Amino acid sequence: MSRVTLSSCPPVTYLENTLKAKIVLLPGDGIGPEVVNEAVRVLDVIAQQGGHTFEYETHLLGGCSIDAHGSSLTDKTLKACQQSNAVLLGAVGGPRWDDPKAKDRPERGLLALRKGLQVFANLRPVKVHPALIDASPLKPEKLRGVDIIVVRELTGGLYFGAKKRESFGGHERAIDTLEYQDYEVQRVVELAFRLAATRRKKVTSVDKANVLESSRLWRQIATCLGEQHNDFTLEHMLVDTAAMRLVTNPAAFDVLVTENMFGDILTDEASVLAGSMGMLPSASLGNGGPGLYEPIHGSAPDIAGKGSANPIGTILSAALLLRYSLKLEPEAQAIEKAVDAVITDGCRTADLGGSLKTTQMTDEIIKRIS
Ligand code: NAD
Repeated sequence: MSRVTLSSCPPVTYLENTLKAKIVLLPGDGIGPEVVNEAVRVLDVIAQQGGHTFEYETHLLGGCSIDAHGSSLTDKTLKACQQSNAVLLGAVGGPRWDDPKAKDRPERGLLALRKGLQVFANLRPVKVHPALIDASPLKPEKLRGVDIIVVRELTGGLYFGAKKRESFGGHERAIDTLEYQDYEVQRVVELAFRLAATRRKKVTSVDKANVLESSRLWRQIATCLGEQHNDFTLEHMLVDTAAMRLVTNPAAFDVLVTENMFGDILTDEASVLAGSMGMLPSASLGNGGPGLYEPIHGSAPDIAGKGSANPIGTILSAALLLRYSLKLEPEAQAIEKAVDAVITDGCRTADLGGSLKTTQMTDEIIKRIS
């Protein structure tokens, strides 16, 4: 099997040790603009401290784009994203665009953006901060040492296969297709091994190979890549077992890689471990193009406009942007350490049982970036 190599993101301009990069901001709907604004404040501090130049270009995506342009993702926005070094997204959606019969919906814009950027892998790191162990519904002893990266295949599988709806004999029939080509599996499992190489060198490949043909292909390719990485531990796990182990023994996972729909479900399950949806970042990466970075939460219409959203998921997404798209590892770590410090020091927004407003939480993080 020929190996897929993942190149880095598109060229950014370096001058001595400083860097110039173009970042497209897609604040989106609901709390999206509030949290993206906070992440930009943090990026500005990083730029100022390191002498870097981040040029921002803001575009509409999702419901706000439907309202303004009649489309959840315009060609202009997609082109701007494709020509950037990285894209930082808030969230899309909300009750006012929820009509299931509508021609366009906010999520459609997001799916089209992922496809247009060819970001085939969604990474969600899940770590449990010791000070937040009590915020999780799991028992503290289950949570100690949890440090997982879930890698979800993002542009294939059940969500992108052919769909059909037909009526016959007085009945309705609906068909969804779960389809994978070998290279689609290979590139995402290869990425999981690359990530594991910087961690505990353990990859758990999750499938349903006892039932699904696509999973048998997935397992065959994962096995083949495992043979090429013989200093790694590769384990295969059925998705139902993985769902159970994520709550019974989450600390045993290092990098978990899986199909699009399985990953959609398992990533939400894994997010519960960290205590709040507002805490977790994500990165969607492809084969060298701009990465897409966004918190895992949605647009939270119930708290939009109140200034109470937790900005940490988006700020940590900005840290992933620095790490994966701009190769600024020390800067990414500076943000992650500052977030760790604010949690240790007891700073809490409402979702964590505290009273800090969105901007106050960011102020505390910025104070601790050194
Ligand atoms: P949600 O993540 O928006 O909210 C779930 C709960 O978590 C709410 O009570 C909300 O207040 C809280 N929450 C979420 N983020 C928070 C934050 N940063 N700080 C504090 N509390 C936070 O999920 P939902 O309510 O199911 O969906 C709302 C809308 O968001 C829907 O239209 C949905 O389609 C959309 N959505 C978008 C994305 C995305 O843009 N990637 C992801 C999920 C949901």
